[in-house]
Amino acid sequence: MRAVQKSTRLSRCLLATNAVRHNSTAAASSVKPLTSVLIANRGEIALRVGRTASEYGIRTTTLYTDPDAQSQHALSSPYAINLGEASAYLDGDRIIQIAKEQGCQGIHPGYGFLSENPVFARKCTEAGITFIGPPWQAIESMGSKSESKDIMTAAGVPCIPGYHGANQDPEHLKNEAAKIGYPVLLKAVKGGGGKGMRIVSKPEEFFDQLASAKSEARNSFGDEVMLVEKYITTPRHIEVQVFADKHGNCVALGERDCSIQRRHQKILEESPAPHLEESIRQDIWEKARAAALAVKYEGAGTVEFIFDNDSGEFFFMEMNTRLQVEHPVTEMVTGEDLVRWQLIVAEGGRLPLTQQEVEQRIKERGAAIEARIYAENPDMNFIPDSGRLLHLKTPQATPTVRIDAGFVAGDEVSSHYDPMIAKLIVQGPTRDAAIKKLRAALEDYEVAGPITNIEFLKRICTSPDFVAGDVETGYIQKHHAELFTPSPPAPEVYAQAALAVALQELSSSQNSDPFTAPPVTATGFNGTSFQRRTLSIVEVPANTSIPNTTPPTKISIHQTAPSTFDITVGDSTHVFANVTASFAPSSNTLTTFYPHTRLATTFVRDADRLTLFQQGKQYRLQLALPTWAEKALGVKDVANSVLAPMPCKVLRVEIKEGDVVEKDQPLVVIESMKMETVIRSPSRGTVRRVVHGAGDLCKAGTALVEFEDENQTEDGR
Ligand code: ADP
Ligand code: ADP
Ligand code: MG
Repeated sequence: MRAVQKSTRLSRCLLATNAVRHNSTAAASSVKPLTSVLIANRGEIALRVGRTASEYGIRTTTLYTDPDAQSQHALSSPYAINLGEASAYLDGDRIIQIAKEQGCQGIHPGYGFLSENPVFARKCTEAGITFIGPPWQAIESMGSKSESKDIMTAAGVPCIPGYHGANQDPEHLKNEAAKIGYPVLLKAVKGGGGKGMRIVSKPEEFFDQLASAKSEARNSFGDEVMLVEKYITTPRHIEVQVFADKHGNCVALGERDCSIQRRHQKILEESPAPHLEESIRQDIWEKARAAALAVKYEGAGTVEFIFDNDSGEFFFMEMNTRLQVEHPVTEMVTGEDLVRWQLIVAEGGRLPLTQQEVEQRIKERGAAIEARIYAENPDMNFIPDSGRLLHLKTPQATPTVRIDAGFVAGDEVSSHYDPMIAKLIVQGPTRDAAIKKLRAALEDYEVAGPITNIEFLKRICTSPDFVAGDVETGYIQKHHAELFTPSPPAPEVYAQAALAVALQELSSSQNSDPFTAPPVTATGFNGTSFQRRTLSIVEVPANTSIPNTTPPTKISIHQTAPSTFDITVGDSTHVFANVTASFAPSSNTLTTFYPHTRLATTFVRDADRLTLFQQGKQYRLQLALPTWAEKALGVKDVANSVLAPMPCKVLRVEIKEGDVVEKDQPLVVIESMKMETVIRSPSRGTVRRVVHGAGDLCKAGTALVEFEDENQTEDGR
């Protein structure tokens, strides 16, 4: 421990010299340029790294797996090697072998997968390949949330009070929790990505939460060692981007506030952190550099702190020894390319900027925010979604609007991997300006196919407390009512949907036989004369595990001239007369002139699913079956079943037949994409049948539990 303290003191001296001495052009004689690099990752980060490498004339080799054969990162380089099965990105030995065969001098691990694996980093080094990241010893020290806290305490970096010892006896952990005082947080010491973490608010919950955290940790990291720490009730997540070279220089590239999270995982990140006192900002940067220097860090790293909003104190949480998902925020506020910095450091060069120069940049460049675009359903506790991207339109990229994407339209978002589709990063002179720009860019972002969090992100951008900078990690729960209140589509949305269905069918029937079909404007819906048509359309329920109960809306279209229509929405409540509409099949755009307004709508149809984008909003609708057809097909019978919201494996069944359950009581715990989800009772009622037991594999929409809703029974249904 003394050695650590000593090295910290020494490092502080180096830091002080770094502030005055700097010479970025005088390359050290030990610089070994990289000419060929293997990218051991996938998706947007693989593309991101490849972009910078190519810019500097470095040849890249990419890797792919069977489900990724057609993915953008695999196609981005002429040198692409197939690893086979989906999990093979984790096969370090094979990847090192490929790097050797391909003549690559370096491996860039991106984030996730092998990036924080000290064994892999060590093996690279032993094989004579440059691991583009910190020394493996630093990864090892920081890889454990318990060991890293010992090192930080010794280096004078404040840590959250807690127990991170070896005694894993549940009774012992519970006693430690009592000493710390509830609420406490259980964390897997090997954890990451918000997994293996549970809040325990009272002693009675302790063992249940411990079992659940351990099980998730075991499934995700193959290790279930837990630590217990004080749960800070109104915290902010503030992290510092650090960078160190092999010459003892270390700079803090500003901080990022990542408090807007769901499931302990970030969705919005920004820099600078709003309302952070300047003295605290300087202190937190200084502590972050001390942390990096205490483990003889090299390359890009992030020191994460938890900031107590109540007391203004901050505590070390963990260090991520890699480039992070949100690094573009820092690139925007510093004007630097951090992947380039990583390559410079890996080659043995010096950091391009001093701390003073960094500070100057940050002062000049204002604010930046990143939004992570995920295929997930916010209305179902942000459950991941997957599937083909039927339509994808991104906002216009500019020097201050950046899109880091891993997919293009037509690609499949695979359930094998993390459901992040893209990152949208904007910069503005002030935080307010950046937020406005982010909202505008999100309104231009159109994704049809999997459900995404885009609509949800838009709501956060206009949420008053967020705009005011009053952020905390519990923001989403705390503002639940405001963020999740659905706004029913206006009658014009139904009218647009119905018109689009009718006109698209018309145009495709004509296109099928271009020689005999009359021109679009001269024909009616049946191809011969002007027609009437009635459609029933219903909103897709936000929470797809509970069948929709909203009655469909009936829309009648009466064609009065080639491109002119009278439209009735609902029971004659909304009548739009003399509407002119035209549909452009090439862009899927419906342009309609109503008496009071013009609407341009992007329309995407997938069987009976209709997705509309208009005036910066997405609408998810569905052609409804007439009531008689529902009865005939028995669709209504599933109304009293609780359905699997996605393809999954049943882990545990928490109830048995005959049980009376309360609303929101856990019924079944499922696992999908390595994540546990608790399926809860939609209302008070009685369990009639447990359809699937532990270990069963279920498709999306499969009934898990049949259950009798108390209210419906009382109605004498
Ligand atoms: P950040 O870089 O902001 O900390 P996350 O914590 O969300 O971002 O993690 C980045 C990526 O790495 C995500 O794709 C996540 O699923 C993955 N990931 C994080 N930690 C681990 C881990 N220990 N094992 C496997 N994947 C991880
Ligand atoms: P991961 O490795 O999964 O990123 P972290 O330890 O960084 O795990 O924690 C992830 C998130 O969990 C933090 O950003 C914060 O929101 C929350 N969190 C972590 N520790 C605490 C704590 N002691 N009290 C309250 N919230 C916490
Ligand atoms: Mg973290």
